[in-house]
Amino acid sequence: MIEVVIEERCDGCGTCVDACPSDVLRMGEGGKAVIAAQADCQTCLLCELHCPADALFVWPEIEQPVGITAAQALASGQLGAFRRDSGWGEHAGTFTNQHWRMGAIFERARLMAIELAAAKSARSEEGSTS
Ligand code: SF4
Ligand code: SF4
Repeated sequence: MIEVVIEERCDGCGTCVDACPSDVLRMGEGGKAVIAAQADCQTCLLCELHCPADALFVWPEIEQPVGITAAQALASGQLGAFRRDSGWGEHAGTFTNQHWRMGAIFERARLMAIELAAAKSARSEEGSTS
């Protein structure tokens, strides 16, 4: 799940907002990305892949946030590691693109998104008929 946006690293490009399939992120009033709907995160890591500033930290726990702070994320040395090890962006040609390994996670995220959409639709239909 997305844990934190490192504000001092974020340059406000908005790429993560466009990349996120679940509308978890939005641009805040200060021109920095903010986590707006953490519970909707699918742990797909697309935001980490696309962030050119290595300003986002996603933890593998999918059910709930574990409360990683910006300081902890910075101290971990893991910011940008997934992007780098996936041979993404500026790392293409330097690191082998291993992103295919995420196939199972993306498939699970896709199924979760379908289930969530169906549940939301059912709730909204219930609300309109009551
Ligand atoms: S992609 Fe990275 S730098 Fe750009 S808005 Fe999102 S967090 Fe900030
Ligand atoms: S991990 Fe995926 S779903 Fe979660 S915030 Fe990043 S792009 Fe959005």
